Amino acid sequence: MTIRLKLTILSIAGILVANALISLAVFSYLESVWLQEVQQRVQRNLRAAEAMYEARMQMLEGCLQVAALSHEFSTAGAASAGSGGRMPAMLTKVRHAGSMDFVTLLDNRGRIAVRADSEGTQDGDLSENALVRAALSTKKTVTGTERVSGASLARISQRLAGRARIDLLPTPEAKPLLETSCTDGLISGTAVPLLDEHGAVRGVLYGGDLLNQREDLVDSIRDAILNPPVRDVPSQDTVTVFLGDVRIATNVRKTDGHRAVGTRMSQQVAEQVLERGEIWAASAFVVNDRYVTAYEPIRDPQQQVVGALYVGLLQSPFVHKRNTLGGVLLVMVLSGTLSCFLLIYFMNYLVLRPAEKVIAMSRRFIGGDLTARVHIRPPGEIGLLCQAVDQMAEAVVEREQQLKIATSKQLHHSEKLSSLGRLAAGVAHEINNPLTGVLTFAHLMREKPNMDDQDRQDLDLIIHETSRAAEIVRGLLDFARERAVNKEPMNLNEAVVRTTRLIRNQKLFDRIVIDEDLAGDLPAIDGDMNQLQQVLLNLSLNACEAMSSGGTLTISTRTQGAGVVVKISDTGCGIKPEHLERIFEPFFTTKPVGKGTGLGLSVSYGIVQQHGGNIELDSEVGRGTTFTIVFPLSGHGPVAETPDSVPRQHPFLAPAGERRE
Ligand code: ADP
Ligand code: MG
Repeated sequence: MTIRLKLTILSIAGILVANALISLAVFSYLESVWLQEVQQRVQRNLRAAEAMYEARMQMLEGCLQVAALSHEFSTAGAASAGSGGRMPAMLTKVRHAGSMDFVTLLDNRGRIAVRADSEGTQDGDLSENALVRAALSTKKTVTGTERVSGASLARISQRLAGRARIDLLPTPEAKPLLETSCTDGLISGTAVPLLDEHGAVRGVLYGGDLLNQREDLVDSIRDAILNPPVRDVPSQDTVTVFLGDVRIATNVRKTDGHRAVGTRMSQQVAEQVLERGEIWAASAFVVNDRYVTAYEPIRDPQQQVVGALYVGLLQSPFVHKRNTLGGVLLVMVLSGTLSCFLLIYFMNYLVLRPAEKVIAMSRRFIGGDLTARVHIRPPGEIGLLCQAVDQMAEAVVEREQQLKIATSKQLHHSEKLSSLGRLAAGVAHEINNPLTGVLTFAHLMREKPNMDDQDRQDLDLIIHETSRAAEIVRGLLDFARERAVNKEPMNLNEAVVRTTRLIRNQKLFDRIVIDEDLAGDLPAIDGDMNQLQQVLLNLSLNACEAMSSGGTLTISTRTQGAGVVVKISDTGCGIKPEHLERIFEPFFTTKPVGKGTGLGLSVSYGIVQQHGGNIELDSEVGRGTTFTIVFPLSGHGPVAETPDSVPRQHPFLAPAGERRE
């Protein structure tokens, strides 16, 4: 797997995981914290509704208690009660004052004595009503909510009984229907006992509200708790009064827009609120939608649960808001993710892909494919880098080609020298024996006593010329490295000193200044003293011959790495560039016949090679020549060839101008 792929996969995975976690956290926050807040708001609303409901009952109680204190009622007794007189008008007045649904005056057995509006059935027995019963037995004012039967309502008022009647509607999630209508009523009211001076009950003043279909009541509660209170905007807050599980007064609407009176609470809520008498505060299915709701059981004076008070908020606007916010968040996260991906893409395009290309190109190049290039040029510094790498490759290829050419030239040259060496050795061997024979016999003949002078002179000439020929043959054998070398540890300085001592007294060196510059602590090399002396002598003689009108010959020694260097410099005529390639060839000479043999440098080359050394030269026509010979230190291998430049390694191949350092 490439770095690019790894980086890409890692960053994409990182971004996806991070964004998923962020989204999850925010969504769960919205879900729990926000809906929880809504829930709390609904519960506050329920408490407010409850308080209003209580306040209404307090008002009823106050109203009837004040009325009971009035002269008419305090003196009225069961006995004096009748349907005639001012009493009905009084009751109607009280009813209007408290805007109650009914007010009646009962006798001390709980039967209706006087009605406010004479519309009830003849049978006026209300002694079974919970409030009346409690007031008669405790002789105290009793205020609360009670469930009364349709018949009982009819005794108070036919009109109320009619209003109480509610047709039950099929409701999903509610208990199965057993009846088709509900005739019972839920009354919230007060029963005030009227006592005589002995404390005996003379009658009961009984009045209150029938909650069935009292829309004004639930609407006023809703308007009071509406949050925020905005008029003309259909409220999402809903309030309902339940009789059992039936909605008897509500502002929850059905799909047709009518109030959902006659529908029932869901079975789950009914079990908790009506059967177990507990508060329900959670999301619930109401009529045909989900609401965030709170239900509180309503109890009668005997603490029986007779109904429930409900407030609720339509859940969909909150869900909608949450979803909108969630959507915005999702868009933000997605666009963040997208921009991250774009960033990764550009990183890839601008940095990683070029890096990968450079690596691949380098691998191919190192593997030998010299045509490999990066090629691409992304904008900016990375593009410059790619360009530089390509340029570097071009330069390497160019150097490689130069090296190849130089190496093949050098190979060609050494092959030439070595085949020349073999030829020379063959010829020398063949000539050496006859020459030795000629010399020996010439010497023997010269020793004969009866030899005249002319013959002796001829013999001397033969001996001289044969000796010269033998000398040349020896030179050839030296060049061909056919002569054994006796290497032993020696100081190169000593070879230099011996050589200069030899040449100083020569007539040839009369006009030449010989300058020695020897390193004091020169380490030993393994060498054959005689042969190295011969090398130094050959080079010194060449230098001398190059300085026909005088000059300076400088011989210096130095330590250099694991080798010892000796330099022989002259201030002579220099070597022409076209001769540089040939001067190490045997018999190459620029000197007139009889003066030069062309063997000096080739023999020296052979000897240096046999010592594991290396010979280089640097020459400029008209200014002089410097030969540099490097020998390995005693106990070391051959001198390493200078690896970085061919001309340096094979100085005689290079034109003079390039060689100056
Ligand atoms: P010879 O000295 O017999 O000519 P060498 O092999 O010693 O043969 O030298 C070959 C040729 O190299 C010389 O003829 C000369 O042209 C050239 N040469 C060698 N050394 C020098 C030098 N120090 N300065 C100028 N030319 C030189
Ligand atoms: Mg010479």
